[in-house]
Amino acid sequence: MTPTSTDVQTVPMLTGGAWQTSSSARFSEVFNPSTGQVIARVPLASALETAAVVEAAHKALPGWAETPVVERARVLFKFRELMLRDFELISACVTREHGKTIVEARAGVQRGIEVIEFACGAPSLLMGQSLANLARSVDCETIRHPVGVCVGITPFNFPAMVPLWMFPVALACGNTFILKPSEKVPLTANHLGRLLTEAGCPPGVFNVVHGDKEAVDVLLTHPLVRAVSFVGSTAIAKYVYETGTRHGKRVQAAGGAKNHLIIMPDADLDQAVSALQASAFGCAGERCMAGSIALTVGNVADALVERLVDRAAKMSVGPSDTSASFDMGPLITAAHRDRVAGYLDIGKQEGATVALDGRRDAPSPGFFMRPSVIDHVTPTMRVATDEIFGPVLSVVRATTLDEALAVGRACPYGNGASIFTSSGYAARTFKQHFSAGMIGINVGVPAPMAWFPFTGWNQSFFGDLHMQGNEGIQFYTQQKTITTRWFASATESAADPVWRSK
Ligand code: NAD
Repeated sequence: MTPTSTDVQTVPMLTGGAWQTSSSARFSEVFNPSTGQVIARVPLASALETAAVVEAAHKALPGWAETPVVERARVLFKFRELMLRDFELISACVTREHGKTIVEARAGVQRGIEVIEFACGAPSLLMGQSLANLARSVDCETIRHPVGVCVGITPFNFPAMVPLWMFPVALACGNTFILKPSEKVPLTANHLGRLLTEAGCPPGVFNVVHGDKEAVDVLLTHPLVRAVSFVGSTAIAKYVYETGTRHGKRVQAAGGAKNHLIIMPDADLDQAVSALQASAFGCAGERCMAGSIALTVGNVADALVERLVDRAAKMSVGPSDTSASFDMGPLITAAHRDRVAGYLDIGKQEGATVALDGRRDAPSPGFFMRPSVIDHVTPTMRVATDEIFGPVLSVVRATTLDEALAVGRACPYGNGASIFTSSGYAARTFKQHFSAGMIGINVGVPAPMAWFPFTGWNQSFFGDLHMQGNEGIQFYTQQKTITTRWFASATESAADPVWRSK
């Protein structure tokens, strides 16, 4: 019998160091996408409850901000150790509530751990600058201060990695933090909270509130919140950026994407096909850096589509929470799977050709769809402009690299783009002129690792400072500049033998 939401555990929230049952009357169901069954119910926090979490984070702020940076880093070192201890448990939790394969879940958790490793370097990363004798007897220095209470609002597609882009760096910088994870994947977020507590993170320094727009709106407008990090779809990213900044907050908001993979006639076709397959169908296409348009240049298209369709058709698709191993798991919900599948009809209606129809033989139960390829797509069709966020690759044919660059410029998004070529000149032209913030050369998913910023452009990012790398340190700190001049007092120079001149 399918469990109903009342048979399963209710997810608690972490407020001021205590795990609490929400008093909210509103709940959402959490699914195991591999089976379609409800595995938990998550509270959707009320405005009042959310405000109480902000107050708890604010109360903990002075103590944590004054904790020496070396001690804050030690908590993160311990947290990293616990993440490694629980690596398999966390990865399994990601697989269970998200549906991606265990190999993909492990990779995301590993990327997140690398951000903790970056943040452990806080004592060096937070060093300021100084210059002596800038003017006569005048010295100048900048020092970094925490910003205050920071908030992270995260999407469903990387339940561990995306929250980890944010809070290790925010905490290392001396801020307190409230995580509002996606209501579709609340269980992994709670696991991270338990480990941080075990690592010695003091009460109220890290909090988890579960909810939807009602909670988010409190976080965006509450006077005690100073900075907001958001990752999710473009429409909500824009809303979060506009609302947060209007209420005086520092905001970084990463949005959706439509990423182009350019295949030049001189590309190593086997390598390009492998990279395209992994980029378009890895994590069932639910990645903001997934390649969703294969943009062929010259006469390479027919050969590429033939090999790609052959490879994609052979991919195994099935439940990721079992011991059997599959190449691809399910999508996050039935509604999302149906929306993604609907794009095959939209493409057909617009005049494109469905070269591989992933609705055929999709496993059931669970929210499955197999890899799909739509050929003969033109740049203005919806399958070329909309973020589909599923295992659907559209093939657009260009005659020259210039034409491919123009397709990129016309795209409203600007997260990632890759070129496959053996020409240094083509690669350099692409790197310089393609309109996207993260560029790959013979790389399918050019997502930067923890030490480099995640530099989305255009409608893929709203704000100034991106997540990860040094931009993360800048986002989570405010600088103070101190200009100093000391005078030799009469007493010092005359009476004190130390100061008396000969
Ligand atoms: P989403 O925008 O639906 O949700 C993201 C967060 O916003 C969730 O925590 C959700 O609860 C909250 N939210 C949803 N609707 C809201 C509303 N009306 N008001 C206030 N808050 C609201 O995104 P999703 O479906 O969870 O995630 C997929 C999206 O995230 C895709 O568009 C993907 O490209 C994007 N993404 C972007 C990046 C990046 O770095 N650019 C990384 C990962 C995912």
